[in-house]
Formats: sequence, structure tokens, C-alpha cells
Amino acid sequence: MMTIPEVAYLLASLLFIFGLKRLSSPRTARSGNLVAAVGMALALGGTFLLPDMGNFGWIILAIGLGAIPGWLRAKSVKMTAMPQMVSLFNGMGGACAMFISLGEWLRGIGIGFPWTGFMWGPEGPPPLPFERVLAYSFPMLLGIVLGAISFTGSLIAFGKLQGLISEKPLRWPLQKLINVLVVLGILGAAAASVNEISFWRYNSAEIWIIVLTVLALLLGVLQVLPIGGADMPVVISVLNSCTGLAAAVTGFAMKNMSMIIAGTLVGAAGSLLTVLMCKAMNRSLAKVIFGSFGGAAQGQAAAGQADKTQREIAASECAIMMGYARKVIIVPGYGLAVAQAQHLVHELDELLEKRGVEVKYAIHPVAGRMPGHMNVLLAEADVPYPKLLDMEEINPEFEQADVALIIGANDVVNPAARTDPGSPIFGMPILNADKAKNIIVIKRGRGTGFAGIENGLFFNAKTRMLFGDAKKALQELTTEVKAL
Ligand code: NAP
Repeated sequence: MMTIPEVAYLLASLLFIFGLKRLSSPRTARSGNLVAAVGMALALGGTFLLPDMGNFGWIILAIGLGAIPGWLRAKSVKMTAMPQMVSLFNGMGGACAMFISLGEWLRGIGIGFPWTGFMWGPEGPPPLPFERVLAYSFPMLLGIVLGAISFTGSLIAFGKLQGLISEKPLRWPLQKLINVLVVLGILGAAAASVNEISFWRYNSAEIWIIVLTVLALLLGVLQVLPIGGADMPVVISVLNSCTGLAAAVTGFAMKNMSMIIAGTLVGAAGSLLTVLMCKAMNRSLAKVIFGSFGGAAQGQAAAGQADKTQREIAASECAIMMGYARKVIIVPGYGLAVAQAQHLVHELDELLEKRGVEVKYAIHPVAGRMPGHMNVLLAEADVPYPKLLDMEEINPEFEQADVALIIGANDVVNPAARTDPGSPIFGMPILNADKAKNIIVIKRGRGTGFAGIENGLFFNAKTRMLFGDAKKALQELTTEVKAL
């Protein structure tokens, strides 16, 4: 016979799975989010009904302290600030997993910190069988370590994206050796705590747990500081899977099905997203974590293109090219998001459609700075979803397009990814904008993209540059199209 909390946990788990399934399409994502939130409310409700629950006032206060600022911030956050918001939330998840594992470890082993008033006599606690300590400690210690790394790592990622810490990869002497020593320290502290409880009648296992926690918190900082700001979405995704795994192992030791399922879902989603992002950028995870883009490659490529010219075009000419075209493919990129020009692009699209021009959007999987960046941005501006086509679907259509309008995108249309084995982005799948009959590029100047390399497409004989901020350029363009 299942208890009420067990039934609540089962239902919550089903709702998490169902909600996640609905998140896979923008059309059902809103309701998916709601379904998962109902699942979380059920899991919380079930927890309140557990037989040994107490301290309700404190728990409700803690929920309020987290939920109210979280809700307010989520309401007001700008689309471009979403990655750091996700990072902050993920960090809080990591902190929760760490504290739950810590608390459960102490409870299960039967000891407490001195300041909790729980003390054994001078002879210390009775030793516990080694197997029991190991079976119980292993998931808990893993939960503490993964949760702590995710907590501080996500805070550093947040700081970098928010501009509180330098976005540049920070390096210091003996970096790798220090990291190895910290990892060894964590393993040593874990072994010492298990040894302490199993074989000795000392009450100092908690000291080792404090050492282990502090070292894991430090490892999160040391691992993320040397990674450049632009790689943070991949880092956040990795840390997200860490948080999920931490919650799952803690749930395993606590025999809490809801935590196991929710943690596994988060862990698996984070891992899959990491793999997808790395694949779409054609970079290994090791390269993201231990190396960065830019540097020499940027200098060489830029020097090679310095003598070539980029041909400028006026907004009025662009309007004529597009207004009398049969098919226009819009390629949105990071610059569109920065300029917040999504509503204007939709307006331009509607004006062109009214003139009988077929307009489609080419969406690269890593256009922008976070997964699904362009889809979210354009959906916010009410661009009909069927017009947003994935890379595989749209690539064969570029050859029939009269105009490819590239707005604030760079790396995702760089033909060097196909042709130049020396390029840092060689092998990355790109949008075939260069195959269109005419190419118009909106960007502010000669700035490079995320990979820090020059783009030969901007020097192509078919390409015309409409220099300016995406918002301003699109404003001019819509005015000119209206006047046709
Ligand atoms: P990008 O390569 O970063 O290029 C953006 C371009 O936009 C720049 O060349 C910049 O040139 C221009 N720009 C910036 N602000 C602008 C503004 N206000 N108005 C007009 N143009 C502006 O962008 P992308 O083509 O979208 O490629 C995304 C890159 O991010 C890829 O390299 C990808 O691997 C990486 N990345 C993506 C993700 C993800 O999940 N989506 C995660 C990690 C890394 P100017 O300075 O000359 O204007």
C-alpha cells in the first residue's frame, strides 16, 4: 500500500516526464513548463505530509525567500540576459543538492555538527560497519561534491555573463597541477571520513566533510574561471547535468523516487544539450573546457583579408532588391539579439509578404549565445513558427533564394567551415547563405563573431554590406520597403 507522499511523488515524476516531453516543441513548451511546475508543487506538498516532517514555519519562509525574488526576476529579465539567469537558477539547484546531501549524510551516519548541540560523549560514536558507511556515504559524498561544483561554477558563469567578472579566460601558473591537487584533496577527505566512521570511535568525520565541501566549492571556481565568457552556455549545460546527477544520487540514497527521476531527467537533458552544442560548433567538450577560440587564427585570417574590399549598399537599394524578389531567406544571428531587433524583422517580413515575396528564416542550431536563442527571440516577436526552418531543411533552398539577408550573424554563415582546414571552425555545419543569388549583410562594422575569425563571405562578389546597428538598419529598410 502506497502512502500519500509516495503517491504524490509518483504523480510528480509522471508530470515531470510529460512536461519535459512538451518542452520539445515551442508550441507546447508553455504548457509543458506549467505541467512540470504542477509536478513540483505536488512533490512539495507530498514532502509536507511525510511523517517525520517538522519546522514548517522555517520551510515556508525559505520557500517564500526563494520563490518571490525568483518570480520577480524571471518576469523582468531581458531575453538577452537569459543565459545568466539560467546559470543563477542552476547554481541554486546545485546548492540545494549540496545541502540536502550534507544534511542527509549527517542524519544517516548518526552524527551532527557540534553547533547543532548534537554531541556524542567523550568516547565518540560507536563505529558503523564499513559496508554500510560506504553504501550510504558514496551517493551522499558524490551529491555534495557535484552540487558544490555546480553551485560555485554556475555563480562564476553568472558573473562572467553579467559582466561582474572579466569574460576573458583567466590563467595562472600551475593551473592544472592545482586542480589535480584539489581533486586529490577531495578524494582524500572522502576516504578519511569513511575511515573515521567505520574504524574509529572519533567524532571528527564531520571535519573531513567540511574539508571535502570547501575543496569542491573551490574546484567549481577553479574550473570555470579559465573558460571564456562566450563558452559559458556550454559550461552552464555541463553544470546543469552535474546538478541533475547530484540530485539523482542524493535521491537514490534517500530512496526518494521523485528526486531520482527529476535528477536523472535534468542530468540527461543537460548532457544531451552539451553534446548537441559541441556537435553544432564542431568542438569537443575538452576543447571548450580546456581551450578557447581566437588568438593567432584571428590575426592571420584578418591579415589575409585586409586588402580585399567589402562592398557597401544603401537601405534604399536593399529595399528594391528584396521588394522585387521572389524569395528571401533571413539569417538571424547574435547581433539581432543584441540589438533587440526581432520585432522589426517581423515587420519587414510582413511587408515583403504583402508584396508577394516568399520569406523564410534559416535557423542555425548555435546561432546566438544559447540553444534555441533565435527561436525564442523570433517567437517573442510572433513570427509564425512554420517559417523558422532548421539548417538541414533550409540549406537546399538557398540556391533558389534571390536574397539571403544576414542580420548580425557571422560564424554560422562562414564558408571557411567548409573550405579551410586551417580554420578553427573547420567542420562546423553552416548555413549555405553563400549559395543565394544575392547576399545582404547587416552588421555594425568589421567586427568578428564569437570564434574571432574573419569571414570570406563578406568579401564575396555577390555580397553587399549594410553597415549599422541591426535595429537602425532594419528601421531604415522597412521605411524604404513601405515607400516602394
Ligand atoms: P557571431 O558569429 O557571434 O557574430 C555576431 C555578429 O553580429 C558579429 O560579427 C557582430 O559584428 C554583429 N553584431 C553585434 N552586435 C550587433 C548589432 N547591434 N547590430 C548588428 N550586428 C551586430 O554570431 P552567430 O553567427 O549567431 O554565431 C554564434 C556563435 O556563438 C557561434 O560561433 C557559436 O558556436 C557560438 N556559440 C553559440 C552557442 C549557442 O548555444 N547558441 C553557445 C556557445 C557558443 P559587428 O561587431 O561588426 O557588428
